[in-house]
Amino acid sequence: MDGVSFEVRGGECFGLAGESGAGKSLTLRAVIGLLPPSTSLARGTVLLRGEPYHARSRAQRMGMVFQEPKTSLNPLMRAGEMIREGLRVHGVRGAHAKRSAIALLQEVGIEDPELRLRSFPHQLSGGQRQRVAIAMALAAEPAVLLCDEPTTALDVPVQERILQLLDRLRIERGLAIVFVSHDLAVIGRIAQRIGVMYAGRILECGPATEVLARPCHPYTERLLASLPRIDAGMPARGILGEPPSPGRWPSGCRFHPRCAHAKPDCSQAPYVLMDCGPDRQSACIYWRELELTAQRECA
Ligand code: SF4
Repeated sequence: MDGVSFEVRGGECFGLAGESGAGKSLTLRAVIGLLPPSTSLARGTVLLRGEPYHARSRAQRMGMVFQEPKTSLNPLMRAGEMIREGLRVHGVRGAHAKRSAIALLQEVGIEDPELRLRSFPHQLSGGQRQRVAIAMALAAEPAVLLCDEPTTALDVPVQERILQLLDRLRIERGLAIVFVSHDLAVIGRIAQRIGVMYAGRILECGPATEVLARPCHPYTERLLASLPRIDAGMPARGILGEPPSPGRWPSGCRFHPRCAHAKPDCSQAPYVLMDCGPDRQSACIYWRELELTAQRECA
């Protein structure tokens, strides 16, 4: 990624959308200091409440929820042990830790929490596993919750219940949530503001309702057109071509090889996010001239 910059406010959910390989998950990992060994942070700053964020600080807390709880949870540990491990790191031990773990399981909507404390991941349903993963992330009392495709591995009714849970936690705890998904419909359901990523850059950002109703970047328009709608009577239209491989980015506007509106100077266009409305930015140098429409509605 380069030039990726965004802010998320307390009590707000910021959605990062885009195709696989856009850099959404790596962005989250860079924020919380969990970059894979093959990558490194060349430069950049993460500020939490205006102060530089240090992943090992006990005062500055972020939590992370991963995509697939089946693999992110330790199969050899009971739910209670995993939650208490997080509490222990933050100085909560013994009977107090057990009470806190039960309270966390209750807060995330697990029935019979005392029994579930003793369950291994394979004894839980997919939705229960993701609720345990969320309880683990909450154990550190985070100010910011990073969610990396937390509903992608779940079926639709369970997905909706997890979205409702995250929404409730955001409001009740005043959590700042960064929610990554390739699914614009899911992002539209939960986020107040969104950033649309492509090839390691944010191409458009702004209030979710505005961006999804009136996109200011051709890539956002194409992503919206790709959403299937069984009631619309017309097939979804995908985006031509494939996203570029990391490190083999096209020059200028990185979307230009796939953009139906591309002009010769797009391949040399500098990357600048330009204001395109109140609290909105687009990286398309032709956003004023193009008449872009949202051809699919998001919830
Ligand atoms: S800058 Fe050019 S290629 Fe890039 S999105 Fe805009 S019109 Fe398309």
